[in-house]
Amino acid sequence: MNYQSNRLGQIPPYLFAEINKKKAAMIEAGVDVIDLGIGDPDLPTPPHIVEKLVEEMQDPANFKYPSFIGCLEYRQSIADFYLRQYGVELDPETEVLALIGSKEGIAHLIPTLIDPGDTVLIPDPSYPVYRMATLLANGKYYDMPLLKENNFEPDFSSIPQEVIKCSKLMFLNYPGNPTSATVDIEFFQKAVAFSKEHGIPIAHDSAYNMVTYSDYTAPSILQVEGSKNSTVEFGSLSKTYNMTGWRIGYVAGNKDIIKALSVLKSNTDTGQFTPIQKAAAYALDADQSCVTTHNRIYEERMSVVLEGLASIGINVDPPKGSFFVWAPVPEGYNSTEFVTHILEETGVIVTPGNAFGPSGEGYFRISLSVPNTRLFEAIHRIQESM
Ligand SMILES: *Cc1c(COP(=O)(O)O)cnc(C)c1O
Repeated sequence: MNYQSNRLGQIPPYLFAEINKKKAAMIEAGVDVIDLGIGDPDLPTPPHIVEKLVEEMQDPANFKYPSFIGCLEYRQSIADFYLRQYGVELDPETEVLALIGSKEGIAHLIPTLIDPGDTVLIPDPSYPVYRMATLLANGKYYDMPLLKENNFEPDFSSIPQEVIKCSKLMFLNYPGNPTSATVDIEFFQKAVAFSKEHGIPIAHDSAYNMVTYSDYTAPSILQVEGSKNSTVEFGSLSKTYNMTGWRIGYVAGNKDIIKALSVLKSNTDTGQFTPIQKAAAYALDADQSCVTTHNRIYEERMSVVLEGLASIGINVDPPKGSFFVWAPVPEGYNSTEFVTHILEETGVIVTPGNAFGPSGEGYFRISLSVPNTRLFEAIHRIQESM
């Protein structure tokens, strides 16, 4: 029996589910697999955050249904973070909403803002959730190609008028997954001007806002004058504090969008467990030296990978943010062929660029989520196989 809606029938299998199946088969066959595919940090959540969770777990008042919009303590710590990091003032009551991970909020924002047949403007390549959640809402997506020659920024002037007319939402994501591209505030100013001109709200996904290198700091789109009229920004504790499994994120910005999303959410979920929200608030409020430490580790790993790739003739400009290396495949391969070659010959998993959208063809993505020794080993095996 085909127990699924037509809507669900449009969704290809989750990218990492396919790769994980292959990985399991190779491990079963005794291969020492090195997985540079999925973007899940290997480093542990810092102990002070874990201790705070344990402490909050002792208080029975925390065991009740949480507040739909998130406990005030958590929303306040996000407002404080925005003021401290970006100089942006947020009203924690109306301009901040707690999420069960930012993925949850991104997926729910789409049916909040679009009707069947409406269009969503999506960066190509990008995080697959934007695209899939649009299909699940019976929407259409328009791929905005991110090209290296444009610093992986979309060219707003190339979007056809008839597409603009049907568009109800645009996604952006910097530091970017999978491209690792970063932008200056000038780009966000252009994006907000486009949003204002066409009445299309923007959702900026800032999952890697604090994963940055050397002297680069990532701007917030909410720093742009007037951005709160039409813009929201998604954030997450996942990548900054190695808390992917905790499922805690937020969205900040335009209060009407946030209100509408909270209506949808209050009919779908009931918020994240209060001790997790309180530990997340503590993560944001406490000393931030753990973030610097993590970033130094990623930066070191980054140079191992960049040097290794250079030795086989693949040259990549050093990224200023995210923990990904977005590299062109060698001459003579397409993305799928190269990734399959690497997996079969070396047991190293990397992600084919086309899995993130058609403009990802010709690239592959390496995630820096394993220690240096494993990265050296992976690079060594790839060198041998070329
Ligand atoms: C990891 C990631 C997310 C999801 O973060 P969660 O808060 O763990 O749901 C969102 N967007 C991008 C681009 C990501 O890489």
